[in-house]
Amino acid sequence: MPCVVIHESVTAVLAEGIPLRAVLKDEGDLWVVGLEGSEAVDVGSAGVARLRLRHGDSGTGPSLLLRGVRGVVQAFIDGVEAEVQVLVQDIDLFHRVRGVFETDVLSKRRVAIVGCGSGGSFIARELTKAGVGEFLLIDHDRMEPGNVCRHELGLSEVGRKKVFAMRDLILDRNPTAIVETLAVHLDGSTVQQVQDAISGADLVIGATDNRESRLLLNRACIANDQPLLFGAVFRRAYGGQVLRVLPRMTPCYQCFLNVLPHMGNDQEIASAEDAAAIAYSDRPVAIEPGLSSDVLPVALMMVKIAIVLLLEGEKTTLAPLREDLVAPLYLWLNRREPGTDYAKLPPLEHRVDDMTILRWYGVLLPRDPDCAACGAFEDSLLERYGLGGQDLDTDFFSTDVAVEDPS
Ligand SMILES: [Zn+2]
Repeated sequence: MPCVVIHESVTAVLAEGIPLRAVLKDEGDLWVVGLEGSEAVDVGSAGVARLRLRHGDSGTGPSLLLRGVRGVVQAFIDGVEAEVQVLVQDIDLFHRVRGVFETDVLSKRRVAIVGCGSGGSFIARELTKAGVGEFLLIDHDRMEPGNVCRHELGLSEVGRKKVFAMRDLILDRNPTAIVETLAVHLDGSTVQQVQDAISGADLVIGATDNRESRLLLNRACIANDQPLLFGAVFRRAYGGQVLRVLPRMTPCYQCFLNVLPHMGNDQEIASAEDAAAIAYSDRPVAIEPGLSSDVLPVALMMVKIAIVLLLEGEKTTLAPLREDLVAPLYLWLNRREPGTDYAKLPPLEHRVDDMTILRWYGVLLPRDPDCAACGAFEDSLLERYGLGGQDLDTDFFSTDVAVEDPS
């Protein structure tokens, strides 16, 4: 017998004349009745709805009769009563994570995710499952077939802008989530727009794949005084890192590049030029090569740190993590990559004291007091060269000039 799935709120509107929509799914096994859409009919004042529904593109299907009787919904398909499953509108979707932390707190937290690629999409999905209730998704890309092997979205979403497809994925997990989208590419021409858009977020996730966008986002969050998490994987995803930026308290991304330029220079391959630069044979190196299973440890660490930051000041069983996750920078290695400093690490085996693969390492990264983004940069210039801010060409603060490429 076909099953008619009805949202509980429909029960209430059966007598109010509000349009309904019904969709036939799973080869006729399932009817889903909702409130919106183009295929809607008016429910009569008698509390009875008659819907004639389409079978895909092939024409009309059987008639569906909905009847509300003293709070009970009955459905008849071509006169035969069908099984009805009523879904409660305010159902507690997160009861299985209650007790770990106060989910209602996260439902009021807003996270801006800049970059909806493989890492950003995973983070969005996991934060949704944890109960985060508000998102701003920023990305201008469309899904391409080549993304599918690492992305949360599949082939059915190819061609769509990632932000819109990701919004649907989030709402499929939590229909009460608030998801805003901004389909722009973060560069010098859009940075002010992005800075304004993210200003209301409790946390910003930097999941883009190039240095320019990271630097721009870094400056925007410092200007907004917002916490920011960066994640990046090294070339061919042999490892990765997570940087947590609390503006003017911990090192920012510019500090990181100033202090550890070789690590910043070993990040993922986002362009054909980058790929060519690290090619070790005459075979072309794919842009951003790397297995999903090598990217996700970094994204998962970002999720964990994000949840701890979002629950700051709240009672939670995750509280001990606040004492563990104090380093500004975390390093992860998937393998002993030939040609890197890590090639000669001892094998994992059963070692506990040596640095090995498949473990997180906190790095005590200092702030750069002369950092152009978060430090006393102008004071430093004044001291060294007798220059003040008024003497500086503003172009000097652009990302092209302020960052020296150590390669
Ligand atoms: Zn800095």
